[in-house]
Amino acid sequence: MRAFGEFKRAWDPDGLMNPGIIVDPLPLDADIRVATDVRPELPLLSRTTLAYGEDDGDFAKALRRCSGVGKCRRQSGPGVMCPSYQVTQEEKHSTRGRAHLLFEMANGEVITDGWRSEEVRESLDLCLSCKGCLSDCPVNVDMASYKSEFLHQHYKGRIRPAAHYSMGWLPVLARLASLAPMEANRAVRLPGVSSLAKRMAGVAAERDLPAFAPTTFTRAHRRRLNRGEGRAGGPKVVLWPDTFGNLFHPNVLVSAVRVLEDAGFSVVLPKGQVCCGLTWVSTGQLDVARAVMRRAVAALAPLVSQGLPVVGLEPSCTAALKHDLVELLPGRRVHGSPPPCTPSPGSSTSTRRTGVRRAWTPPPWPRCTATSTPCPDSTRTGS
Ligand code: SF4
Ligand code: SF4
Repeated sequence: MRAFGEFKRAWDPDGLMNPGIIVDPLPLDADIRVATDVRPELPLLSRTTLAYGEDDGDFAKALRRCSGVGKCRRQSGPGVMCPSYQVTQEEKHSTRGRAHLLFEMANGEVITDGWRSEEVRESLDLCLSCKGCLSDCPVNVDMASYKSEFLHQHYKGRIRPAAHYSMGWLPVLARLASLAPMEANRAVRLPGVSSLAKRMAGVAAERDLPAFAPTTFTRAHRRRLNRGEGRAGGPKVVLWPDTFGNLFHPNVLVSAVRVLEDAGFSVVLPKGQVCCGLTWVSTGQLDVARAVMRRAVAALAPLVSQGLPVVGLEPSCTAALKHDLVELLPGRRVHGSPPPCTPSPGSSTSTRRTGVRRAWTPPPWPRCTATSTPCPDSTRTGS
């Protein structure tokens, strides 16, 4: 090779022909994004909001997880990653594309407007925050969390899209509407109001808005207890009254109470109005999400410190409590509790964790049932 080099230099002393090729190659690691243990400082990432507990508190380290192998670009196969790529077939709408764009934003060489970058916002816009990548990516890239962080920083001190307010604050708006649910249902079905509400919520015009239940689950449950109809004896279990179940589909939570009571538990609810904060997390309103989660921890603390298991039915909510809460309130584990939530009573793990009534078997179910596995169910809850 040295002889080749000398020969070439004799005929091309200024190195004009194929510079850096064959006889004078660049070091093997010259084009690797981060080649050594000496990581470049990325000042943009010095003040992030999430804890990045799995990455030693370092968002840059989290962004370096992606090795580019492209499993997130597949069209079929087991797992859920990545739905937005499967529909668009575009690199910028894949987990890998997003991870690379975020890294370029942090690096500041190609994307120079930092957190305000419209390219990065556009790439993250179609991310469903489904957390599919957290379980399906070989290195567990958690794009939903990175998206929350980005949106939080991107819109700091600025007006957000209307959908961030309507969807992010949905638990509060829905709670207000639940004071007069029938009137609220009638109002949102008026032609003009309905299309305005859908536009503000970012809901497709062809979709129907969900209807508020005539009474909330928590109200109905307390009335039932006051009538002495609830099961009093037996080991206690905490049922998490998620916002959608509580305000829109209370029959799901009512059924859970029936199952739990039949299995020998008595069901208790956290005191006051609780929420997991997911809608604020997914729209990047992390300061509000943190405050909401603090309230959730305060409501659960007295119960889980007695060793009571917590059952959640809505996978997105239990995932938020198990994953996002720890990222926003690092170190705020509820005393005496293993994880903040256990999976739904339908899963075998709940009885395994509570260790109660192992012999219980559900009564025969006369009809066929169809089940589906929502993304966060198979990713973060591990059920
Ligand atoms: S995001 Fe994960 S699956 Fe996709 S290229 Fe990066 S490492 Fe591979
Ligand atoms: S959270 Fe879901 S949609 Fe977003 S990058 Fe990951 S797999 Fe794709």
